[in-house]
Order: sequence, then C-alpha cells, then structure tokens
Amino acid sequence: MFIKIQDLETRKLQFDESYAADELDFGESGVRALSRAHATGVAELLPGTEDQFRLKGHVALEAGAECDRCLGAAAFPVEADFDLFYEPASEAAGGEEIAIDEADAETGFYVGDGIELKDVLVEQVLLQLPMQKLCRQDCKGICPVCGSDRNAVTCDCSAKAGDDRWAALRDIAAN
Ligand SMILES: [Zn+2]
Ligand SMILES: [Zn+2]
Repeated sequence: MFIKIQDLETRKLQFDESYAADELDFGESGVRALSRAHATGVAELLPGTEDQFRLKGHVALEAGAECDRCLGAAAFPVEADFDLFYEPASEAAGGEEIAIDEADAETGFYVGDGIELKDVLVEQVLLQLPMQKLCRQDCKGICPVCGSDRNAVTCDCSAKAGDDRWAALRDIAAN
C-alpha cells in the first residue's frame, strides 16, 4: 500500500494490510518473511503542516534468517509497534526545525508523493531482529576443523586442536 501525502490532506488513513511472505523484500540483509505479514495502523498529517505526517502502527510476522553460527534456519517471531514521523527529504535539507512533542519519536524522510508501507515494515522488522541471529540460544555452530554441524554431530576435533574457549582457559591458567 502506498501512503500518498495528498490522500492525507482531507482525512487520516487507517490501514489493515496483509502481505504474502514473498511480497516483502529484505534486500541484502539475508532476512526473509516466513509467514504472512500483518500490519495495522494509521497515517495522518501533522497538524499545521501540509507535507509532514505521522505513521503509527503495528506489524507482526515470522522472520527467517541463516543462523550466524551453524548456517541453519533461524526463525524469529516479530511483533513490533512503530510511531514514526515523516517529512519530505527536500525540506530536511533546508534545515527547517520541526517541533515534535514525543521525545522518542523517530523522524524519517520520504521522496516524492509519499511512502510505500511495505518499505517501512521491512525497516521496522529489521530493527527488531537481534544482532546475533541464532537458530537457538545454545547453538553449537559448525566445527571450524571438520565443518560438521555440532548440533547434530559430536566430533572430537576440539579435543585435538583446542577451541577458543580452551585457549582462553589456558591463558588464565598460565597467568
Ligand atoms: Zn545455529
Ligand atoms: Zn570437528
């Protein structure tokens, strides 16, 4: 759904949108949607302005990514509230001050007629995902020596080569 600034001039826009998993494009992030995404909310012009608006809502979906440790599939249920303020990119360049009462409000910029809701949702979902994406908290990862998935196989490489944790312990013992 494209949120067109002109459509907000007369009234606020309530939305209740649902997107199939392949409709959301997470670009180069390696993230993808595993479920339909559902977004609800409202877009409205900021009082006293003609081209600044507030976008407030909620998005829910299940996001998937490659586990940072074992490269297996990792899934993340996302439930995110957002409350964003948008102004035209050209105006921001002019340095015009805009009074925003909410201290924690985020201001974004749009180019042209408005913004695509899907783009906002993608951004909000990415913000919600943890920095380290793991299939499970105790994922053992891939053995750097033999390449086997340590969640599935118990290799004895660490006993021979020593992994970082043992090296750290040896350093402590040496001091
Ligand atoms: Zn993993
Ligand atoms: Zn191994």
